Order: sequence, then C-alpha cells, then structure tokens
Amino acid sequence: MKTKFTFSVLAAAVLVACVAGCNSPTADAIPEGTTVKLSLLETTDIHQNLLSYNYYSLAADTSLGLERTASLIKAARAENPNTVLLDDGDNIQGTLLGDFQAVATPVTCGQTLALHKVMNALQYDGGGVGNHEFNYGLPFLSQVTNTDFGIPGVNKGTGCGAPNYPLVLTNVDGVSSGKPIFNPYALLDKSFVATKPDGVTTLVKIKVGILGFVPPQILQWDQKNLEGKVVVNGVVESANKYIPEMRSKGANVVVALSHGGLDASAYSPKMENGSLHLTKTDIDALMVGHSHLVFPMAKETGGPKLDVSLSSLPADQVDGVKGLVNGVPTVMGQSWGRRLGIISMTLAYRSGKWVVQKDLTTVEARGFKYTDGSTLVAAEPSIAPLIDTEHKATIAYASQPLGTSTEFPMSAYFALVGDVSAIQIVNQAQQDYVRTQIASNPTLAAYKNIPVISCSAPFKAGRNGPTDFTDVAPAATPASVFALQVRNPGDLYVFGNNNLQAVKIKGVDLKAWLEIPAGQFAQINPMLTTEQDLVPSYSTIFNFDVFYADNNGLKYEIDVTKPKGSRIANLTYNSVAVDPAADFIVATNDFRAGGKLIPALDGSTIILKSPDANQAIVADYIKKSGPKLTLAANGASRPWSFVKTTTAGPVFLRVTTGKLAVAQAQNLPRVVSETGLDANGFGKYRIDLSQ
Ligand code: MG
Ligand code: MN
Repeated sequence: MKTKFTFSVLAAAVLVACVAGCNSPTADAIPEGTTVKLSLLETTDIHQNLLSYNYYSLAADTSLGLERTASLIKAARAENPNTVLLDDGDNIQGTLLGDFQAVATPVTCGQTLALHKVMNALQYDGGGVGNHEFNYGLPFLSQVTNTDFGIPGVNKGTGCGAPNYPLVLTNVDGVSSGKPIFNPYALLDKSFVATKPDGVTTLVKIKVGILGFVPPQILQWDQKNLEGKVVVNGVVESANKYIPEMRSKGANVVVALSHGGLDASAYSPKMENGSLHLTKTDIDALMVGHSHLVFPMAKETGGPKLDVSLSSLPADQVDGVKGLVNGVPTVMGQSWGRRLGIISMTLAYRSGKWVVQKDLTTVEARGFKYTDGSTLVAAEPSIAPLIDTEHKATIAYASQPLGTSTEFPMSAYFALVGDVSAIQIVNQAQQDYVRTQIASNPTLAAYKNIPVISCSAPFKAGRNGPTDFTDVAPAATPASVFALQVRNPGDLYVFGNNNLQAVKIKGVDLKAWLEIPAGQFAQINPMLTTEQDLVPSYSTIFNFDVFYADNNGLKYEIDVTKPKGSRIANLTYNSVAVDPAADFIVATNDFRAGGKLIPALDGSTIILKSPDANQAIVADYIKKSGPKLTLAANGASRPWSFVKTTTAGPVFLRVTTGKLAVAQAQNLPRVVSETGLDANGFGKYRIDLSQ
C-alpha cells in the first residue's frame, strides 16, 4: 500500500513537470512547408515461407521466402530511412514448418515461433491478422501472440514469446466480453527525417495509426475454433468506429491492414473481400492481401500484369498502374514473401497539420527481380541462422517414412485438364472415412443407403507462381517406386487444419456445385484464331473441386464454350443421368461444407463434423493402403472431361515448364506441346479441347 502511494505521487510529479516543461517542443519547432517522405512497407500472406525452401520437395526455391523479402526491405530502408514495416496477416500457417511448430511439436509459452523470431529481427512496426491465423485455434494464437483475448477458457501463459511489435484487429470481438480480442488499432510513434523549406533536415515525430481486418467468413472456415467465441463485424463499420478516436489521439496517417482482396460489388458487412470499400473511410493508405495477387502491376520488365480478377475492376475506381483505389494508395504484395509492397507518401506541414501531398504518392509491388527484371536478389544472410534449429527439425519431421510407396508420381500440374493423380487419393481417403463413420456410428444410420461421393481440389496448382504445384515424387520417374514420407500428405493436402465434414445434398445441388469449378475456365470462343488462356486467373484455384465415386461411377463434362454457370453437361452416376431429387453424401472439408459457395453449403446440410484433419485422414489412408499405391487403383480415374470442342486458334494452360512428359505419362493427349514461357515464368502448354 505504502509503495503504491509513493509511486502515484512520483508519477503525478513527473506529469506536472512535463505539462510545465515539455509540451510538444517538436510540433512547435516545425516550420510551415516542412516536408517528410515516408515509405509504408507491406508483406502479406507469408504463410510460413521464411527461408527460400520447399519442405514438401525438400529443395531450395529461390522464388519465395522472407529471407529474400528481407533484402527488399533492406534496400527500401536504404532508399528512404523513413519506413514503417507492416504485415497484412496469414503468416503462421502454410508450410510444414507451421504445422511442425503448431501441431507436431507445439511451441511452449516460453518459446517464440520461428516466424516471429525472423519478424522481430526485421524490426516490423506492426501487423494485422489473417484468416489463417485462426487455423490452429484461439489458445495457440493467444499464446504465440502473447495476447489475452478475454475469452473464457482461452488462457495463455504469462509473458509468452511473441512479436515485439503491435498486432491489430479491428473487426473481431469476443462474444462474452463484447470487446476486440486484439487491440483494434495502434498508434506508432515514429521519428522521421524531414526537410525544412530552407533545405535543412530535421527530425519530426509522426504518428502512424494502423487498423486490421479479416473476412467475416472466418466464422465458417474456422467454425470449430470460433463458434460462440467471437463475432466479426463489417470492415467499414469497424473502421468508422475507431478512426475518429485515432485521429483525436493524434494519428497523422491512418493505414488499413485489410486481409481481404478488392471486390467492387456493392458493400455488405458480410463480404469476403471488402477492402475496396475502406477507401470510402478516413484512411490515407490501404494494404491488402488474402487474394495472393500483385497490385499494382509490377514495374520490372516482364513482370506480372494485373491478374484478370483485378484488371476487370471498374477503371473509374481502380488504377492498377498507379496503385490507387478511389484515390487511396493501395498495395498487395502477392504471397509467400515474394513481393514487398511499398507506398511512398509525402506529407507537408501546413497550418499546424501534416497534409498528404497526393500527387507525390507512388505505389509499387516490388519483386525479387525488381532491379532489371532478371537479376534475383540474394537472401539476407542474417536470417537463416536465426531459425536453423527449427529448419532442420522440420526437415527431419518431413522426412519420416509413412511405410507406403507409390508407383506413380502424384502431381497437380495438369489437374486443370483432367489429371487426378494428386486428387484421387484424397477423395478415396475422404470417401472411405465417411463410409466407415456411417457404418459404425448409430446416429448416422439413416444415411446407410445414400451414395457417398467425395470432392477435393488441387490446392497447389499455380496460385502462388510457377513452382506452386503439388508434386509428390519430384525425383522419381513414373516407373520407379517412391517411398512416401510425412511431407507428402501435406503436399497433397496443403491446408493442414481443414477438418473433414460431410454434407447431404440433392442432385440439383451437385450440379450447381460443379458449376463453381467449371467457372474457373475462361469462356472459350471456338471461332477465334488468336491465342486463348484456358485458366486466366489462378487466384481461386483452390475451389476447383474434382468429384469422385468408386469405379469412376460419377462422370461429368465441362463445356468451356458456354457462359459461367451453365457449363456442366452429361452428369451421370453409375451411367444414369443424375436425378435432381436424388440424395448424395459428399465428403469434403469444413471450409467447403459451410463455405456458401452454393446455397446448399450454408451449414444446414452438414451431417458429419469430424474432429480429424483431412490431411491426417489422407496420411492414415495412405498408410493402410500400403505397401504400394498403384496408378490403376489410385490415380487414373477420369471423372470429368471437356465437352469436345474444335477451336480455330490455340488454347493454352500455364504450368511449370518442362512437364510435358508428366501429361504423357498420365495419358492426357489433350496436352499437345509446350510452346514457351509467359511473363511470370509459367510454361505455356497447348491444349487440344477436341481430345
Ligand atoms: Mg487469407
Ligand atoms: Mn493467404
């Protein structure tokens, strides 16, 4: 009691002294017309890609990794000392390193995630939170961020290893507390070098306010972790709730870290990619992510143009060259550390206020080859030693044998043109699991006579660049036998924290569902003599569900000449046209079962919520299918094909270069030849749709 009293008196004395002697000396000293140029730096969707290394193939991959982004950060800091380094979320999940530290051997409170060790060393100023941060559950997230969520039953230890910079999340509240689970915003006090009108430099203090947003869909995607515990509010409502408070506390610049993409459709508090609408709130800069795309288009020679899903945004709102959305500078730094977003803004001191000089703003999504379009930046050498122990332990974990071999390579290179070598085994595992549950669980007895089918997608099929493809036997020739390891199910099923769920739907729903993957294709005009890109955007390729039933019993065709939504033809089950009123049970994952891709996937049709992860179910199925998986039994079904179409001009698909032999080994004659590289380094393969 005595100690406390003494402290209060002291604190009051210090406060009085300050009111008298230190009232804003810097602000008073800034001459009118002083300017400061600051660079807001963004990483997004790192997904545990810390080193330039692929744990699924156990091989270096120089196209990705935060150790190389670190070199971009260093260069940006050399160009301008006034930087604010921010992360836009989706960082703790995504590679075997993430699974290793969260599931296989979870870090304890006393340890710091390898990810956060690296980010702390890079001296991040602040970070947002992505949807994938919730994948390992609230207790884990609470611990590894050392954040008390105020949620009953979610108890972290004291002083856990965590980021040494603030994390913000503006639109997620605890149900019982009614308060944000993370700080809804942070005000970063930065000292920057400014230039006075006489040309002399001076240090000034700038308050950078940051907010963070996640898609409301986390409530469906991570229902098992979040149901009844958190609510998600609309991004615009949440921004408008806190920005006035940030401004009144002196924020000179407000930056939204929005883990969501750009979607110009009418605003709804429920929309997944609501970032564009944040430009109508009082923000100065917008950092976006979640879509794993490049915005604005790359400046380097031959760098990526805007993804088709961004280039179709209304030009009166979105300038994809300058990086402006409704006049607000906006950046998206792709994913996996492959780009650094840089928003450079100039502020001028006018009448006691810092005012953004809008015409001096530049925006860039800088890649590893930014200097000349071909020279790769080196990895920053100080990063790898920080996490050497975790890196080696992950490799050892990844290399443990499963005890089963495969006689055929399982790859997703040609999944978009019919190869199921990386998908069928997942579907077989899911189907087997659901059948076993129905046969053994009395509460599911009512479903005994309903056909059980399964769907899964090529989750790694080019979304994150030309090396982003599932390839389970990278070093093996088709004829050799490849011993499967722990890392392989992760390559086949990259979302390690999806849990299996099953839905009961009607034939009419099945057809509607199939239209979603069919919609990934461009509408092909058979009369065109010019080149046509069969899959113009890879940004939602994880929605390319491929269905499966025993004995290739489910068949369907996709007519790419038809508009989206009316492409499915000749849908049959056991050679009979599917009755719209017939029942089917579909084995899938929790992300999909309640993900509302179609109205029937609204959660009401779920009959089974498994506590088991799809990835673990695949691993178990592979083990029990040993000693050897065969192409005939596990990888050669052909559930779907294109409606045969002869085109006047060439149609092509973008895949890793040098993989024509894979298509030939899979007996896919519609893959004719490889004809060159596109600007992003994808091989272009000619596809004959009449095959
Ligand atoms: Mg995301
Ligand atoms: Mn992501």
